Amino acid sequence: MVSMKNGNVRKLGLLEESPHGRERAIALLLFLCSAVATFGLLPALFPRSNAEVRPDRSTPVAIGEAYSIGAPPLEPIRHDYNIHDVRSAVREGVRWLAAHQFPEGVWDNRRYVLLCRDAVCPGQGSANLSTGVTALSLSALLHAYELDRGRTDVTELEDAIRRGLSWIMTVQDIDGCFAQTRDDRSIYGHAIATAVMAKAFVLLDDVEYRRAAIRGARFLEMSRTPDSGWGYAIRSSRCDTSVTGWAVQALLECRAAGIDIRPEALEGAKRWVERVTDTRYFDTAYDRAGRGQSFLKNTNDRFLPNEAMTATGLSLRRGIGEEDAATAIREGTARLARDLPVWNARGTSIDYYYWFHGTLAINALSENDGLRRRWNDAVTTILLTNQEKEHAACRKGSWGAVDKWSPIGGRVYAVAMNLLTLMKANF
Ligand SMILES: [Zn+2]
Repeated sequence: MVSMKNGNVRKLGLLEESPHGRERAIALLLFLCSAVATFGLLPALFPRSNAEVRPDRSTPVAIGEAYSIGAPPLEPIRHDYNIHDVRSAVREGVRWLAAHQFPEGVWDNRRYVLLCRDAVCPGQGSANLSTGVTALSLSALLHAYELDRGRTDVTELEDAIRRGLSWIMTVQDIDGCFAQTRDDRSIYGHAIATAVMAKAFVLLDDVEYRRAAIRGARFLEMSRTPDSGWGYAIRSSRCDTSVTGWAVQALLECRAAGIDIRPEALEGAKRWVERVTDTRYFDTAYDRAGRGQSFLKNTNDRFLPNEAMTATGLSLRRGIGEEDAATAIREGTARLARDLPVWNARGTSIDYYYWFHGTLAINALSENDGLRRRWNDAVTTILLTNQEKEHAACRKGSWGAVDKWSPIGGRVYAVAMNLLTLMKANF
């Protein structure tokens, strides 16, 4: 088996370094997994999701166990891609996003179908999230720009990015919040837009973007819950790990752009993640320790539980300076190691959100190359395999709106998220 990353081919060495007995055991396991999958029994091995928030308590893993052993992946991971395949997939995804951007710079998770050629790309989202999906799309394009500038002509890409940034700035209100209307403020969309402005300033050196980022950061700081994290609404009494994770990412992006960040905002986020992380099992919850997963009733409650919130908590902790050796980081990482990305036959394991946050968390580790390689290979293989490839179809280069959060974000969210994951896992 070979894996290519950053152009370097290297032997994976898993089987080569294993004793013969272990090699046979791994082969047997892989055979059993594929046999079970063939007979369609794989999903039956897992608990079904239900509409309730419920605990996800598997056996705790001893510190460091997953680093050396971990659980075998649920399906064999193929390593038959190379870095050129990844670059090509990123280019196709960027092309799809650019083709579905409105001339004024906005992306729309419902109306994007108006821009489709011939057959419509299916997968409209359920709510109007233009600020959020525009910011997410811009984040993906900025990463692609950073990757390609100096290698190829990025004039058109830069034009798409600048149009998007202009649109985002038109919706920033007097308080610094990025929101289309005052009644439609969302800390989610605002946080991603703030991060994008800070990154745009670093890459494109336009002081207008810096000003917008500063105002965005000030709004984020004032909108947090005193002494804790963030929720959907301003100073909400109902914080959650997901919104808090995006807000922290935005503040860190601002800090990387040279913008002063109030330390108490990051300290509050740290208190939040500690509050919702179980001290025995080290799973991080959505809004209350021990409450496990979050689902939207009748929307995505058919999806399997996963470690999405633990992953979000981990990247938050790493971002604010916790070391790899910290118990919560090591134990949380062990949970992710046992929940590698899988695209099962029923589609109930697909969660682009989890794969993105997991990729951030795993790649933030300063050591543990073995796990990083396994995770990145798994998520890259899955995304390359499932990218739309039908020649001449409008949907070519995109991903299906089939994951846990696609009913809301739609195909635009799916493409932006997966592009970010592919780039963060490989470059
Ligand atoms: Zn289309």
